[in-house]
Order: sequence, then structure tokens, then C-alpha cells
Amino acid sequence: MKVCKVCKKEFDGTHRDVCSWQCDEKRLKSLREKLDESVKADKGHTENLGM
Ligand SMILES: [Zn+2]
Repeated sequence: MKVCKVCKKEFDGTHRDVCSWQCDEKRLKSLREKLDESVKADKGHTENLGM
């Protein structure tokens, strides 16, 4: 049994880290949000210099 990285539920699967596509979506969404945040932090830095 593996443990879903999103909801921590145990599930049967060998080549996936999440139990369902819903959890896959959630994981992608949070990854994207993290990426957005780092991009924003980066932009904020350069924008302050530019303006
Ligand atoms: Zn899950």
C-alpha cells in the first residue's frame, strides 16, 4: 500500500503518488501556487527597482 501525498490516505498503486485524479489536481494546483508565489516575489523585487 502507498500513502497519497495529498490526502494521506492509503491506496493501492505502484506508479502514482496520489490516490485519485482529484488529488493529482490538488497537488498540481498547490505546486502552481508555490511557483506563482516565487515568481511574484521575484517580480516584486525587480519591479521595485524599475519604478
Ligand atoms: Zn488522495
